[in-house]
Amino acid sequence: MRTPIMAGNWKMHKTAAEATALAAGIVEQVREVTGVEVVLCPPFTALGTVAEAVKGTTISLGAQNCHYEAQGAFTGEVSPNFLLDFGCKYVIIAHSERRQHFGEDDALINRKLKAVLGLGLVPVFCVGESLEQREKDLTFDVLRKQVLGGLAGIQVQDPSRLVVAYEPVWAIGTGKVATPQQAQEAHRYLRDLLAGLWGTETAEGVRLQYGGSVKPDNVRELMACPDIDGALVGGASLDAGSFARIVRFQ
Ligand code: PEP
Repeated sequence: MRTPIMAGNWKMHKTAAEATALAAGIVEQVREVTGVEVVLCPPFTALGTVAEAVKGTTISLGAQNCHYEAQGAFTGEVSPNFLLDFGCKYVIIAHSERRQHFGEDDALINRKLKAVLGLGLVPVFCVGESLEQREKDLTFDVLRKQVLGGLAGIQVQDPSRLVVAYEPVWAIGTGKVATPQQAQEAHRYLRDLLAGLWGTETAEGVRLQYGGSVKPDNVRELMACPDIDGALVGGASLDAGSFARIVRFQ
């Protein structure tokens, strides 16, 4: 019922030429895959060439961030309209690296989510607890605060307009993946939160991705969990072969 969605977050890696070559390699290697949506999120500077590389394929383009205003005096920022201009369908919002290094709080994230949803971009809205928060048994409290803060005042009726990524901060780029049980428990909690906001039918349709050290050899057991609908992949998406194996998780 929910089409699996596998997204590669290339972060601040790859020049435009390198990104184009990586995208071409992925196109080649996932050509035969059906029933899985594939999303590539290169740096802004490579959106144009990666858009060309995926043209005519079923692969979607995503960005890693954007501003909440459509235009204005915001030197160095990127408007969500510019992402549409490149053919982006998705945009990652609230990645933990943005929360951590760029001070993004729930109020700012809420503005961004409202802006991108209003323009028809699909946000990949990231939430997740730190190691300290998990050890203090605060995981659900943190997820609740992030979800309710980020989605305050937002009504989603069509579940295809939003993706939520559960990314425990302690698992990102560390090689320490959440166990399927830990991930499933958090995903179920997130789905229940969405049901509280918009009803069960909508919540059951929203795709929830797991992110945090997803690799070809652990993706299968994660995807076997009933509430995990895909993966947001950092490091392992920088190699066409390993990302293609993640996409072909079955
Ligand atoms: C990420 O950047 O969203 C991520 C999950 O990274 P990694 O797969 O490298 O842990």
